[in-house]
Amino acid sequence: MIVDRQGRRFRNLRVSLTSACNYACTYCVPNGKRLVAAQDELSAEAMARGVAYLIEAAGIERLRITGGEPLVSPKLETFMIAVGQMGLQDISLTTNGQLLAKKLPLLVDAGIRRINVSLDTLDASAFRGIARGGDLATVLDGMVQARAAGIKIKVNMVPLRGQNLDQVMPLLDYCLERGYELRFIELMRMGHLASDSNAFLQQFVSLQQLLSLIGERYEYLQADAPVDATAVRYEIPGLGHFGVIANESVPFCRTCSRLRLSSTGWLHGCLSSSNRHYIGDLLDKPRHQALPALQRLLVKALGDKQEVAFSGGATIMKIIGG
Ligand code: SAM
Repeated sequence: MIVDRQGRRFRNLRVSLTSACNYACTYCVPNGKRLVAAQDELSAEAMARGVAYLIEAAGIERLRITGGEPLVSPKLETFMIAVGQMGLQDISLTTNGQLLAKKLPLLVDAGIRRINVSLDTLDASAFRGIARGGDLATVLDGMVQARAAGIKIKVNMVPLRGQNLDQVMPLLDYCLERGYELRFIELMRMGHLASDSNAFLQQFVSLQQLLSLIGERYEYLQADAPVDATAVRYEIPGLGHFGVIANESVPFCRTCSRLRLSSTGWLHGCLSSSNRHYIGDLLDKPRHQALPALQRLLVKALGDKQEVAFSGGATIMKIIGG
């Protein structure tokens, strides 16, 4: 097992199945152009082999499938069937929900029991302004159908000053009423926001600001969360839970156990580092040749993790997923 000086190891793998997305969210894609799949994307089979090798070489236990938008990828079915047979403790998915209802039978058959749906507002016009694609009612319907199929739903919201701060309480109430757990994600200094501090600061909403807004209506208590959880979790007694992924306010680098694999075969040990390590060429090799080389790259990827706090990175989320 590869472990660093702080006792960190890779336990959670996030696979960006494709960089293509049917949205172009303002904070992720500043030029508004929807991204298509990269020409050099790996096949579903190669990506699944990558997961199998990483389970062995790094001790990966949990997998999250993300993107881009994973549900637009033609590789989804083959990839999910393959990873479903690898004995992972947990396989989950992050999606914008636009194709959730359509892909639900496939997701259920593949054993997905937890889905995070990204949703920044319940206001249809603000939705169009932020996501620049998709349709709000379709997302809400997808969540209802997924819930009815027994899938646990978390909703990811990125609060943005001047764009959707008025939606914090409506979204919280909406989620509490339906048994979805809302996760606020503090805006991260990724891509253009890493180099443009003004744009970042103008939009950034902190954990404290969120808590004081919520505290005007509800009493909340801090709740339990796993040691390597990224979210600070709260309980509103009698009503439910919410969480805040507070990369800026409560950095979680010291306990980070995440490893990311891009759709083009690059390993990223840290969202805040521009270092990446190519493994695409190893995935055609037999196990006994691939694993030693992979282990050397994993040592480097683990070394890319920040000591204490997230400082931002040029990498954009749409390439390597959230
Ligand atoms: N398309 C899928 C979705 O919408 O959930 C998966 C990929 S998306 C990049 C994953 C998550 O990253 C979304 O919840 C999105 O809101 C979040 N995200 C993207 N850029 C971000 C940023 N700069 N700061 C915080 N969250 C960001």
